[in-house]
Amino acid sequence: AAMRHLPYFCRGEVVKGFGRGSKELGIPTANFSEQVVESFPSDISTGIYYGWACVGNGDVHKMVLSIGWNPFYKNIKKSVETHIIHTFKEDFYGEILSIVITGYIRPEKNFDSIEALISAIQEDIEEAKRQLDLPEHLKLKEDNFFHLPEGKIVNNH
Ligand code: ADP
Ligand code: MG
Repeated sequence: AAMRHLPYFCRGEVVKGFGRGSKELGIPTANFSEQVVESFPSDISTGIYYGWACVGNGDVHKMVLSIGWNPFYKNIKKSVETHIIHTFKEDFYGEILSIVITGYIRPEKNFDSIEALISAIQEDIEEAKRQLDLPEHLKLKEDNFFHLPEGKIVNNH
């Protein structure tokens, strides 16, 4: 069921999140606006996904993505957050993030400790890196979607 909507293409502005402190954990997540999140299929499964991401007209990098319930909105709205597997020199709030989600890793989980959470995310990142090297996922890195003119909001072209 999680795979039904994949690959899923999405483009939108990076907005300020609600300060879960992802960056302090060493795993910053670029959040999409509520409007972009609303444009996702309402029946898309929450959980951890992977795919490709590009900021502005920059390079295309591997990413892991979480679709989860947003505590800021009392868990009635979803949040969509992308951790790009790349070290950026600066933050990129306000820039246009383009992503293609190509695969699903696991459902959302609660963890007993921050350490357990971080190690699960590190495993997700390793899994994403491996999967994305397979031809069926790798081919989407070169998709024309990433070379469309910047600024246009395009969902599921
Ligand atoms: P917020 O709660 O505002 O989303 P985070 O702690 O999740 O704060 O940090 C996210 C921000 O960090 C992004 O919006 C982006 O500007 C910046 N950032 C820097 N490097 C990355 C990266 N590799 N992946 C995602 N965001 C990054
Ligand atoms: Mg974030």
